[in-house]
Amino acid sequence: MVSVTLVRGDITEQSVDAVVNAANSSLLGGGGVDGAIHRKGGPEILAACRALRASHYGKGLRTGQAVATTAGRLPARWVIHTVGPVWSATEDRSDLLASCYRESLRVADELGAETVAFPAISTGIYGWPIDDGARIAIDTVRSTSTEVREVRLVVFDHNAFGIFEDQLSGS
Ligand code: ADP
Repeated sequence: MVSVTLVRGDITEQSVDAVVNAANSSLLGGGGVDGAIHRKGGPEILAACRALRASHYGKGLRTGQAVATTAGRLPARWVIHTVGPVWSATEDRSDLLASCYRESLRVADELGAETVAFPAISTGIYGWPIDDGARIAIDTVRSTSTEVREVRLVVFDHNAFGIFEDQLSGS
């Protein structure tokens, strides 16, 4: 069974097989985690994303889907890009957020990645409430069948860390 661990820190500093990027559908960079990954990972990642846009992903990557590229200069082998849903108060998009975790793990299995670091997808610029985002992340990772040995949830700030910690311990 997959071991779910929690780390407070920067996703770009994780030595793992694959780092998940909270990308946008253009695959061509953005703010938050996306900006940090491209800044630290260097131009190889953007070049690989451009190649994807020029081939199978002409219209970009759909919300809830995932695709892998090189990790460039990051201390990882691959970046798995996934597009979280923008939070909506009027429409329940939880399935799409769960799909990001499931599809990223499916891509990780295809790659043979054994350790995967995830950020709290959609909880930044896309506005998802952190407690609900944490619940969906943890529930989905725990209920997905995968060959990945360690899923490392990496959260940036103190408040988010406390919320993930409470939910992981079931309190
Ligand atoms: P989204 O657009 O999917 O909301 P963001 O990148 O804006 O994605 O934010 C996702 C989460 O990642 C937020 O909780 C944000 O605080 C956090 N975050 C931002 N930068 C980093 C980083 N370098 N490492 C880990 N987490 C980060």
